[in-house]
Amino acid sequence: MPKLIALDDGHGMNTAGKRTPYIPEIGRSIQENEFNREVVKYLKVELERCGFQTLLVAPTNTDTPLKTRTDLANSKKADAYVSIHYNAFDGSFGGANPSGIELYVYLGHTNKEAGKLASSIAKYLRQGTPQITEGLKKQISMFYERQR
Ligand SMILES: [Zn+2]
Repeated sequence: MPKLIALDDGHGMNTAGKRTPYIPEIGRSIQENEFNREVVKYLKVELERCGFQTLLVAPTNTDTPLKTRTDLANSKKADAYVSIHYNAFDGSFGGANPSGIELYVYLGHTNKEAGKLASSIAKYLRQGTPQITEGLKKQISMFYERQR
Protein backbone atom coordinates (compact mmCIF):
# COMPACT_ATOMS: atom_id res chain seq x y z
CA MET A 1 0.00 0.00 0.00
CA PRO A 2 1.43 3.42 -0.93
CA LYS A 3 2.68 5.64 1.85
CA LEU A 4 0.56 8.71 2.63
CA ILE A 5 2.47 11.98 2.93
CA ALA A 6 0.70 14.93 4.56
CA LEU A 7 1.79 18.23 3.01
CA ASP A 8 1.40 21.47 4.93
CA ASP A 9 1.93 24.90 3.38
CA GLY A 10 2.31 26.46 6.78
CA HIS A 11 0.32 29.68 6.84
CA GLY A 12 -2.58 31.49 5.30
CA MET A 13 -2.01 34.17 2.72
CA ASN A 14 -2.84 36.91 5.22
CA THR A 15 -1.28 35.48 8.38
CA ALA A 16 0.26 38.37 10.32
CA GLY A 17 4.01 38.81 9.73
CA LYS A 18 4.97 35.96 7.38
CA ARG A 19 6.04 38.14 4.46
CA THR A 20 9.14 39.61 2.89
CA PRO A 21 10.04 43.26 3.33
CA TYR A 22 8.57 45.58 0.68
CA ILE A 23 10.17 44.93 -2.71
CA PRO A 24 10.22 48.15 -4.79
CA GLU A 25 10.77 46.31 -8.09
CA ILE A 26 7.42 44.55 -7.82
CA GLY A 27 5.67 47.16 -5.68
CA ARG A 28 4.76 44.85 -2.82
CA SER A 29 6.00 42.31 -0.33
CA ILE A 30 5.63 38.57 -0.93
CA GLN A 31 3.59 36.49 1.53
CA GLU A 32 5.41 33.46 2.92
CA ASN A 33 2.49 31.32 1.79
CA GLU A 34 3.15 32.27 -1.84
CA PHE A 35 6.44 30.35 -1.58
CA ASN A 36 5.10 27.56 0.62
CA ARG A 37 2.07 26.72 -1.51
CA GLU A 38 4.16 26.52 -4.70
CA VAL A 39 6.58 24.08 -3.06
CA VAL A 40 3.67 21.99 -1.76
CA LYS A 41 2.07 22.01 -5.23
CA TYR A 42 5.36 20.78 -6.72
CA LEU A 43 5.89 18.17 -3.98
CA LYS A 44 2.39 16.79 -4.49
CA VAL A 45 3.04 16.24 -8.21
CA GLU A 46 6.50 14.72 -7.66
CA LEU A 47 5.49 12.49 -4.74
CA GLU A 48 2.49 11.15 -6.65
CA ARG A 49 4.71 10.57 -9.70
CA CYS A 50 6.94 8.47 -7.40
CA GLY A 51 4.00 6.38 -6.17
CA PHE A 52 3.13 8.11 -2.90
CA GLN A 53 -0.30 9.32 -1.92
CA THR A 54 -0.56 12.88 -0.65
CA LEU A 55 -2.87 14.72 1.70
CA LEU A 56 -3.05 18.52 1.63
CA VAL A 57 -3.80 19.51 5.22
CA ALA A 58 -4.21 23.24 4.47
CA PRO A 59 -5.49 23.42 0.90
CA THR A 60 -7.03 26.91 1.11
CA ASN A 61 -5.37 30.32 1.28
CA THR A 62 -6.79 31.01 4.74
CA ASP A 63 -4.86 30.30 7.92
CA THR A 64 -5.64 26.72 9.00
CA PRO A 65 -4.97 26.20 12.73
CA LEU A 66 -2.12 23.78 13.42
CA LYS A 67 -4.39 21.46 15.42
CA THR A 68 -6.82 21.24 12.47
CA ARG A 69 -3.94 20.34 10.16
CA THR A 70 -2.42 17.70 12.43
CA ASP A 71 -5.84 16.27 13.41
CA LEU A 72 -6.56 15.73 9.70
CA ALA A 73 -3.20 14.00 9.17
CA ASN A 74 -3.78 11.81 12.21
CA SER A 75 -7.33 10.90 11.18
CA LYS A 76 -6.08 9.80 7.74
CA LYS A 77 -3.13 7.94 9.36
CA ALA A 78 -0.49 9.78 7.34
CA ASP A 79 2.91 8.07 7.31
CA ALA A 80 4.82 11.36 7.26
CA TYR A 81 4.03 15.04 7.74
CA VAL A 82 6.01 17.64 5.83
CA SER A 83 5.51 21.31 6.69
CA ILE A 84 7.09 23.85 4.33
CA HIS A 85 8.29 27.26 5.56
CA TYR A 86 10.35 30.16 4.30
CA ASN A 87 11.69 31.66 7.47
CA ALA A 88 13.06 35.10 8.09
CA PHE A 89 14.46 36.57 11.25
CA ASP A 90 14.28 40.32 11.47
CA GLY A 91 12.07 41.35 8.59
CA SER A 92 14.77 42.95 6.45
CA PHE A 93 16.84 41.80 3.49
CA GLY A 94 20.01 43.36 4.85
CA GLY A 95 19.78 42.33 8.48
CA ALA A 96 20.58 39.19 10.40
CA ASN A 97 18.28 36.96 8.38
CA PRO A 98 19.29 33.34 8.44
CA SER A 99 19.98 31.72 5.09
CA GLY A 100 20.01 28.21 3.76
CA ILE A 101 17.91 25.15 4.40
CA GLU A 102 16.86 23.85 7.80
CA LEU A 103 15.05 20.62 8.60
CA TYR A 104 13.35 20.14 11.93
CA VAL A 105 12.43 16.89 13.60
CA TYR A 106 10.49 16.43 16.80
CA LEU A 107 12.75 16.43 19.85
CA GLY A 108 13.95 12.92 20.68
CA HIS A 109 13.14 11.56 17.20
CA THR A 110 16.37 12.27 15.33
CA ASN A 111 17.36 8.60 15.55
CA LYS A 112 13.88 7.34 14.73
CA GLU A 113 12.01 7.12 11.40
CA ALA A 114 11.41 10.89 11.29
CA GLY A 115 15.11 11.62 11.68
CA LYS A 116 16.07 9.09 9.04
CA LEU A 117 13.56 10.61 6.62
CA ALA A 118 14.79 14.14 7.33
CA SER A 119 18.43 13.09 6.88
CA SER A 120 17.57 11.49 3.56
CA ILE A 121 15.71 14.62 2.41
CA ALA A 122 18.68 16.77 3.50
CA LYS A 123 21.08 14.60 1.51
CA TYR A 124 19.14 15.07 -1.72
CA LEU A 125 18.39 18.75 -1.09
CA ARG A 126 22.13 19.35 -0.76
CA GLN A 127 22.69 17.76 -4.16
CA GLY A 128 20.03 19.91 -5.81
CA THR A 129 20.85 23.39 -4.57
CA PRO A 130 23.83 25.64 -3.95
CA GLN A 131 22.07 26.82 -0.75
CA ILE A 132 23.73 26.29 2.58
CA THR A 133 22.19 23.29 4.28
CA GLU A 134 22.07 23.66 8.03
CA GLY A 135 22.32 20.51 10.09
CA LEU A 136 19.30 18.61 11.23
CA LYS A 137 17.62 20.55 14.01
CA LYS A 138 15.46 19.38 16.83
CA GLN A 139 12.10 21.05 17.09
CA ILE A 140 10.89 21.25 20.64
CA SER A 141 7.20 21.48 19.95
CA MET A 142 4.41 21.37 17.39
CA PHE A 143 5.50 18.56 15.13
CA TYR A 144 3.32 15.69 14.17
CA GLU A 145 3.92 12.11 15.11
CA ARG A 146 1.80 9.37 13.61
CA GLN A 147 -0.68 7.88 16.04
CA ARG A 148 -0.28 4.12 16.31
ZN1 LIG B 1 6.42 29.78 8.27
